[in-house]
Amino acid sequence: GQRFIWPMSQFGELVNLYQNARASAERIFGLMDEPKTLGADGDLPELSVRNGRVEYDDVTFGYEDDETVLEDVSFDVSGGEMLALVGPTGAGKSTVLKLLLRLYDVDDGQIRVDGQDIREVTPASLRDSVGYVSQDTYLFYGSVRDNIAYGQFDATNEEIREAARAADAHEFITDFSDGYDTEVGERGVKLSGGQRQRIGIARVLLRDPDILLLDEATSDVDTETELRIQESIEELVSDRTVVAIAHRLSTVKDADQILVLEDGRVEERGTHDELLAEDGTYADLWGVQAGELETIPGM
Ligand code: ADP
Repeated sequence: GQRFIWPMSQFGELVNLYQNARASAERIFGLMDEPKTLGADGDLPELSVRNGRVEYDDVTFGYEDDETVLEDVSFDVSGGEMLALVGPTGAGKSTVLKLLLRLYDVDDGQIRVDGQDIREVTPASLRDSVGYVSQDTYLFYGSVRDNIAYGQFDATNEEIREAARAADAHEFITDFSDGYDTEVGERGVKLSGGQRQRIGIARVLLRDPDILLLDEATSDVDTETELRIQESIEELVSDRTVVAIAHRLSTVKDADQILVLEDGRVEERGTHDELLAEDGTYADLWGVQAGELETIPGM
């Protein structure tokens, strides 16, 4: 796809203003973090998650009719395992996640959870089972508590605190003078990227989905914060099936399976050791990493 550079003109400013207004409206109504799943509940059965096995079976997809963003992508993640997606920008990693959230339907092939085609279960049950932690957690104007609960109206204060503790957010929240009642979001207290991410992790821990989609942050935070975020992510990924866009080699090495995507195709697939032995793209990347770098450049 092409990238459009906004003109540095008043027109550009106006468009940006409009877009910002729209973006905040979408955040408030939760369309961005909790985007619209396609389909209607109709007479469909609910998704029944037993092990949390995720299968992509020759998935082909393009955003436009005459375009192929993913071509014959197949993989299989057993319940409780973690698959790491790596590959250059534009390879199709986010698209893989968006398809499991069913923001788009595949053009060809099938995506199954425990053997059930995701198009043949209610969107509501799919949303309940698949959680998503994005690089940038959107906060709406409201209390920290509401931002963690995020539509889970029956969550108790104790459950919310427990999720925040596990996400390593409790401490900074209680440092605010109003604690969990502190207003955040555009008009409230400004949170750092690391703090926002921890709110996002707490939000997902509270929902406790069987399947987790993780877009690991690349943002620069200090080493201590980074380590603490890593710890809460470990909490988050344990006992669930995880499909992660991994930017950190430590995450990739821990994955049960690594999928190297290039130009919408699966280039390589295996564990860290298997892929190193294969001496292909992944091994090349790792070669680049031989120094002290901790993240994959250009990913
Ligand atoms: P990655 O996550 O690996 O960087 P993406 O899945 O974001 O890759 O993008 C794969 C391709 O799909 C890119 O060419 C990108 O421009 C295109 N693309 C991504 N999102 C959209 C969209 N909403 N509409 C049209 N094209 C898109």
